[in-house]
Amino acid sequence: MMKNFGFGMMRLPLSGKNGADASIDQAQTNQMADLFLRSGFTYVDTAYGYHAGKSEHAVRKAFSERYGRDSFVLADKMPVWQVKRYEDYERIFAEQLEKCGVGYFDYYLLHCLDTKNYADSVKYGGFEFLREIKAKGLAKHIGFSYHDKAGLLGDILTKHDEVEFVQLQINYADWEDEKIQSRKCCQVANFYRKGIIAMEPVKGGALANVPEGVKTAFTRLHPDKGAAYWALRFAASVPGVFMVLSGMSSYKQMEDNTYDMQRFSPLTEEERAIVKAAAGIVTKTLAVPCTACGYCAGECPKNIAIAKVFELYNEKEYFGKGPSFDNDYKDMCAKGGKPSDCIGCRACEARCPQHIEISQRMKDAAKKLDIRR
Ligand code: SF4
Ligand code: SF4
Repeated sequence: MMKNFGFGMMRLPLSGKNGADASIDQAQTNQMADLFLRSGFTYVDTAYGYHAGKSEHAVRKAFSERYGRDSFVLADKMPVWQVKRYEDYERIFAEQLEKCGVGYFDYYLLHCLDTKNYADSVKYGGFEFLREIKAKGLAKHIGFSYHDKAGLLGDILTKHDEVEFVQLQINYADWEDEKIQSRKCCQVANFYRKGIIAMEPVKGGALANVPEGVKTAFTRLHPDKGAAYWALRFAASVPGVFMVLSGMSSYKQMEDNTYDMQRFSPLTEEERAIVKAAAGIVTKTLAVPCTACGYCAGECPKNIAIAKVFELYNEKEYFGKGPSFDNDYKDMCAKGGKPSDCIGCRACEARCPQHIEISQRMKDAAKKLDIRR
């Protein structure tokens, strides 16, 4: 049986001096891949757009060129927002096979379905395409990743019985969130008996670095474990979840997570109560629920590094200024726009799976951050 922990290739270590998204540290990624497989895990998750299109190449270099195809289980995703006709599915899919250096995908998903992306997928034949690649043996399992309310998820699953699994955002901070609806979406998936892949268990890293009160409660029970340990175990304990993905950024994270997930046990009642209290604290203190997924990158006419702005904003709200704060902020402004440059065009908002009102939150960030320039 496949182990329940997957290597998300969307936040790989970077080698570029300026941390450019596309400059993946391949040597470290290969070491991470080696440890991942050596630890008995197999599931590798990529997508067309991750790392500005370079993640699939990194998969090829780390896995396809170094291991037999049966040694790893590969998932890839169709960027449905780039599809304007059926042939686009075929063209992009062929490119993905080539970039990953494989002849088939084990899991293949329509990426990021929400109201608009679902409507477009229906319009251009996305579900027909899934059925076609499955029938041809080019994808063993077909499904979609999802970022919208539970009601729509139910509608989609009612109409598309061919879907075998869904990928949902599951973490303890979003469990009861009214926009994300983690718990309700899981209930819907279970009702339709679809397997669940959990994404963003650590909420883009936010749950690895928690407020002091949460840290104290966590370490009281497990003094030698970090906060990510709790976040991963929460997601993996949800009924119906057969895979938890983590977008790891260093060999150390891979070491910690493979060690913990090899010894996985579901949360106990006592641990559940601690996590529930933690969710209350975290959701109150997290200023902007950005997961740093980067989907909005490249949309901004003012070249604002949106995810970085929110990372710094959250850091300041959470912990106050750290030692590198001023330099990080200056560095960000030197490379692109600053929060007060936002013109409120909302081009970014259409791409945000977290449904963040980015233009509004930019104004808040400008008030809190731009003052120091
Ligand atoms: S709303 Fe602001 S941050 Fe978003 S794309 Fe427009 S200018 Fe950039
Ligand atoms: S603002 Fe939204 S789209 Fe942009 S990085 Fe954050 S979560 Fe992703």
